[in-house]
Amino acid sequence: MSAADLSYVQPTPNSPWGTYLSQVDRVVPYLGELSRWVETLKRPKRALIVDVPIEMDDGSIAHFEGYRVQHNMSRGPGKGGVRFHPDVTLEEVMALSAWMTVKTAAVNLPYGGAKGGIRVDPKKLTHKELERVTRRYTSEIGIIIGPQQDIPAPDVNTNAQIMAWMMDTYSMNVGGTATGVVTGKPLHLGGSLGRVKATGRGVFVTGREAARRLGLDLRGARIAVQGFGNVGSVAAELFAEAGAKIVAVQDHTGTIVNANGLDLKTLLPLARTEGVAGFEGGDVIANESFWDVACDILIPAALEGQVTAERAQKTRARLVLEGANGPTVPAADDILAERGVLVVPDVICNAGGVTVSYFEWVQDFSSFFWDEDEINQRLDRIMMNALNQIWDTADRHRITLRTATFAVACERILMARQERGLYP
Ligand code: GLU
Repeated sequence: MSAADLSYVQPTPNSPWGTYLSQVDRVVPYLGELSRWVETLKRPKRALIVDVPIEMDDGSIAHFEGYRVQHNMSRGPGKGGVRFHPDVTLEEVMALSAWMTVKTAAVNLPYGGAKGGIRVDPKKLTHKELERVTRRYTSEIGIIIGPQQDIPAPDVNTNAQIMAWMMDTYSMNVGGTATGVVTGKPLHLGGSLGRVKATGRGVFVTGREAARRLGLDLRGARIAVQGFGNVGSVAAELFAEAGAKIVAVQDHTGTIVNANGLDLKTLLPLARTEGVAGFEGGDVIANESFWDVACDILIPAALEGQVTAERAQKTRARLVLEGANGPTVPAADDILAERGVLVVPDVICNAGGVTVSYFEWVQDFSSFFWDEDEINQRLDRIMMNALNQIWDTADRHRITLRTATFAVACERILMARQERGLYP
């Protein structure tokens, strides 16, 4: 790992920023003359840390730490979600913002990359406290976001209601109604059809194509899913509709398995309210046993760093679809490649969400809204075109899909950087 020497972050090889830096290092040999600019990718353009003080319902004052990192804006405004999680750190948000830069470039959206987060457990807040945290955070980062500057969206533990509060707070501060300042909004506030399911749908579309190329028939294919939120559960549903069996699911409450396939119709409502652990249509197993369950496809759709070297060694899957951001550490990537396990990397696999976010932003600007068929067709086309181009690059250089995605994306980013030139 050759870290750009930043005083404010000390990455380790498996930490999110350390993982990202090593992914960048691997692409340098394929950048030609543009490698002159590569240091640009190893430091965020701008990182804002904010204090988020709120009055709790019991009258006490609580402070939360918030971040907004704009990693790169060479190709357009910053774009990326906001995560509410007690373990969020500046380092993590930096990595997530950098992966957004690569992701938007990989699918060729006219955006840079950004990400935000608050160190808070939203499950411990009341509805009103959650609203106050969201509004104060939005007001604090209001000095750097905007429809042409940086456009937040949902991520882990954030949703359409939170986007509505963010849109309202920003709008109140600027004295208008700026629907284009966030995406993932409710439908009647400038949201887009298809946005909620878009990330899971993108995982399915790229996964189906990867399976086809591997000669892996989806009918009867066994799938293990880690993380059963908006990404994992939607992808699972779509794969099940295509004839696959969801044989294992893990969420924060535990791990359940059923070799004949879990019944999603009963599992999904339970997963949404209580979590999967209490599900009666499967057996509960130890969390670590999830990683060597007999399966063909593994979908890590939870948090970073989950696919460790040890877990990569024991997985029985032939195909890994990264629904989460940064789920695989670099050492695990090497082991999977050696073992002939194909990985469709996060920066293309889960790009469906930001792609429909882009459609939402375009629709907000034109105040003209598309129907769901049109959105899904455009989404599928963008994902398939991007994946095919990446696949060709991987074949040409005999490199992994991850390095190929970075090659395609970093060339676009650094070309823009070079063409814009250094100011002043
Ligand atoms: N949070 C999502 C991601 O990681 C979506 C970001 C967006 O729509 O801007 O890609």
